[in-house]
Amino acid sequence: MSSPHVLLLGAPGAGKGTQSARIADRFGVDHITTGDALRNNKEMDISGLNLEYDTPGGFMDAGELVPDEVVNEIVVAALEQADGFVLDGYPRNIEQAEFLDARTDLNAVVRLTVSEAELIDRLTGRRVCPDCGANYHVEFDQPEEAGVCDECGASLEQREDDTEETVRERLRVFAENTEPVIDHYQGTDAYVEVDGESPPDEVFEEVEAAIEAKL
Ligand code: AMP
Repeated sequence: MSSPHVLLLGAPGAGKGTQSARIADRFGVDHITTGDALRNNKEMDISGLNLEYDTPGGFMDAGELVPDEVVNEIVVAALEQADGFVLDGYPRNIEQAEFLDARTDLNAVVRLTVSEAELIDRLTGRRVCPDCGANYHVEFDQPEEAGVCDECGASLEQREDDTEETVRERLRVFAENTEPVIDHYQGTDAYVEVDGESPPDEVFEEVEAAIEAKL
């Protein structure tokens, strides 16, 4: 059969990035992540669209969604190049879900479930390497030397949208805009839920089995 088409759903901090990277590796598919694509284009000039902010970064630092016309373009370009894919961070609202459904089919829609208290702890304690992208946590996943990346030695940073105030806004935006996306896929043959609170290796075992069962 052709390469799998996987959609990973879950709140910010549910582990979509970590699990998507493993899925991409295991199933030999592209990892399409709108969050990373937008972070790489935070300063892009979108003033011509006459929106609330003139760059994607304006929306991101406020914890708001970047408008669909900007995000959909990224996804179309990535889907055109991918054979199989795991999609992470998109769709984030019903309009994006309908846009996606019109363009591709999905073999597995995996939802990672994590409690809100755990999400807040994970996100506010997350530290990232600006050079190689490795992720750490001040409590649960410390680097060998505090503040220094084990992989490449760069100084670790907190993402600008991982402060407590912005995290709370991101979770509010998720509840308002993205929970309807979960309702949209729940009840379809491709949908499956996985408990995202276990350690990453255990979550991946379940995610892998869930995807295999759908292929
Ligand atoms: P993430 O890394 O997936 O948590 O995304 C970080 C930020 O990028 C979000 O808070 C949004 O501002 C923006 N973003 C990522 N994906 C989307 C999307 N599908 N639609 C709108 N905004 C997005």
